[in-house]
Amino acid sequence: MNLRSKLPSVGTTIFTVMSKLASDVGAINLSQGFPDFECDPALVDAVARHMREGRNQYAPMQGVPALRQAIAAKYAALYGAVYDPDSEITVTSGGTEAIFDAVAAVVHPGDEVIVFEPCYDSYVPAIDVSGGRAVVISLRYPDYAVPWDEVRAAVTPRTRMIMLNSPHNPTATILGRSDMAELTRIVDGTDIAILSDEVYEHIIFDLARHESLARYEPLRARSFIVGSFGKTFHVTGWKIGCVAAPAALTAEFRKVHQFVTFSANTPIQHALAEFLAQGRGYPELSAFYERKRDLFLGLIAGSRWKPLRSRGTYFQLLDYSAITGEADMDFALRLTKEHGVASIPTSAFLYNAPAPPVLRFCFAKKDETLEAAASRLRDL
Ligand code: GLN
Repeated sequence: MNLRSKLPSVGTTIFTVMSKLASDVGAINLSQGFPDFECDPALVDAVARHMREGRNQYAPMQGVPALRQAIAAKYAALYGAVYDPDSEITVTSGGTEAIFDAVAAVVHPGDEVIVFEPCYDSYVPAIDVSGGRAVVISLRYPDYAVPWDEVRAAVTPRTRMIMLNSPHNPTATILGRSDMAELTRIVDGTDIAILSDEVYEHIIFDLARHESLARYEPLRARSFIVGSFGKTFHVTGWKIGCVAAPAALTAEFRKVHQFVTFSANTPIQHALAEFLAQGRGYPELSAFYERKRDLFLGLIAGSRWKPLRSRGTYFQLLDYSAITGEADMDFALRLTKEHGVASIPTSAFLYNAPAPPVLRFCFAKKDETLEAAASRLRDL
């Protein structure tokens, strides 16, 4: 059979590659972003209770009503944004499904989608599968600021979507108010939709304010805003995310979602609805991870690793130019095999720009894991 790949340049994701290597060689795994500690046991109890009470059949396609209501209430309370839970909030099988569905829902063959590199590795394949063309704009090391003049110059009549991510994986930068003002001016008067990946919205440091696009009505009105419960409640394996979008966008989104997964799993949605409605989990998350960031930075202080500023997410970029001149992938592999610490090279997120000498480390780990990893890193 002559099979012509729709994604010829895609291999296995870097997260799978590095986590497997870490496990094969017994390295401390600071690569793939997931906590190595448990979630609130009461959340597990709540899921078990809903299972025992028989909530084990298909959830409504758009999500369990109580969870959609709790999500809408959170957008109203935190960002002053009004979403109708029935027609504007959808629960998905994780943020990645949400991103894929939103792109598939609006991108036609030949449409252009502006993305910023380093760029989460699912964005461009989602565009490619839909027959769109990714227009990649580089965020430049070490500040990774958005070059808005380049964005303005890249917009054409074929631009269908702009994809944003703040707090940003892998650079740990955040967008500010002036970015929102620039974006608003660029999309004004166009039919450009926005996908705003805000899965790390509750992990933001140094008292910064999360600039959700939901805060800005002209942006909110054209945006799919993606959220994630895995990051917020320390349960990345549960794969529950959500999308908030105006009714017309949500209607198109659900046409895709209903044929990708149909619905996300039922008992977990009920349990998350309870936690969210009670305001549990997310209010203390930034302080929780800020302490971990500072612990990790304190442990490697004085070493040859130079931290870039981590302003959000649970990732820390470390510059290794004082240690070696190796390319980031080569060094990440050697660091895992020879020194027992797995990380993520940012080249996995780059399309055009040369890879800078940095690696991404996940600090969503027990203190003792961070201590053990740091003591190995300090030896280099
Ligand atoms: N978001 C996680 C990370 O950046 C990975 C998720 C995945 O492996 N698909 O590490």
